[in-house]
Amino acid sequence: YVAKEKGNRYHFFDAALNAYITRRMIIEVELKKAIDRNELVLFYQPKIKLSTGEMVGMEALLRWDHPKLGSISPTEFIPVAEETGQITAIGEWVLRTACHQNKVWQDQGFQSLSVSVNVSARQFEQGDFIKIVEKALYDSGLNPKFLELEITESIMQNTCESIQALKEVRELGVKTSIDDFGTGYSSLHVLKELPIDTIKIDKSFIDDIENKTNLSIIKTIIDIGLNLNLDIIAEGIEMQEQFNTLDRLNCGYGQGYLFSRPVPANEFQKKISDEMIAKKNYLIK
Ligand code: C2E
Ligand code: MG
Ligand code: MG
Ligand code: MG
Repeated sequence: YVAKEKGNRYHFFDAALNAYITRRMIIEVELKKAIDRNELVLFYQPKIKLSTGEMVGMEALLRWDHPKLGSISPTEFIPVAEETGQITAIGEWVLRTACHQNKVWQDQGFQSLSVSVNVSARQFEQGDFIKIVEKALYDSGLNPKFLELEITESIMQNTCESIQALKEVRELGVKTSIDDFGTGYSSLHVLKELPIDTIKIDKSFIDDIENKTNLSIIKTIIDIGLNLNLDIIAEGIEMQEQFNTLDRLNCGYGQGYLFSRPVPANEFQKKISDEMIAKKNYLIK
């Protein structure tokens, strides 16, 4: 029916669709070369224990700096990588890089900091995922207890195989967490069966934490955590009031711009070194 519209609108949609498809194709083609050209970088964002303000670990977040296209957001290129299967190679690079970096920091004396890595459902579905995790740990020399894998609820739509893979990962001593919790499909029943250590409350609930519905959802998730013996971490804490509310509700951990944006490894290193020297922490209560 678009074709029946007057000329202008037809051309508008045509051009927009064209631009979208072109961009998508360029990303797909360029992404294939990104690893070899060293265009992928990991940024790190601190995870904070809310009751004490101390840093307990960091999340590794992928960045793609393309020489011509500039910086491309993971929210744009990760879905493409998942569709095309490129996520397998990219995910392995992320895992290896994060393990190696954390081991370097461990060796420098930051021995209580763990690293979290985001993993796509698609990676779990590949038969040799456990081998890849094992190898990343072995090659880096990182103690498995300092690695955590973040998965989204979409894994639950998947087969028993994904759950089995999750179990095996955990048997290695690696921690597991559900990311963006509350936005997906999980029923409480499935949650009980899942081999996980941590629930991450999605940022959308934290954004408007004073909203009554959001507040009761957050309370419920914290309660579930308590009952199922899971750690709870809130993502996207930007303001002091959000921190105060979450701490008052006994949410264990938090992450967000209030503490720090994700930063490159050298900047993160400076952050933790300064913190150690000054014996300072992120306590801003
Ligand atoms: P995520 O795992 O839920 O990561 C949290 C996102 O929120 C990150 O965006 C982070 O930079 C951002 N964030 C953290 N604190 C705040 C805050 O206080 N305010 C706001 N506005 N944002 C905050 P980012 O780095 O753009 O990553 C987006 C998503 O891309 C991630 O969501 C994750 O799903 C995916 N992703 C990133 N790196 C990887 C990766 O290595 N592998 C896979 N499979 N996915 C990745
Ligand atoms: Mg995450
Ligand atoms: Mg998240
Ligand atoms: Mg999120």
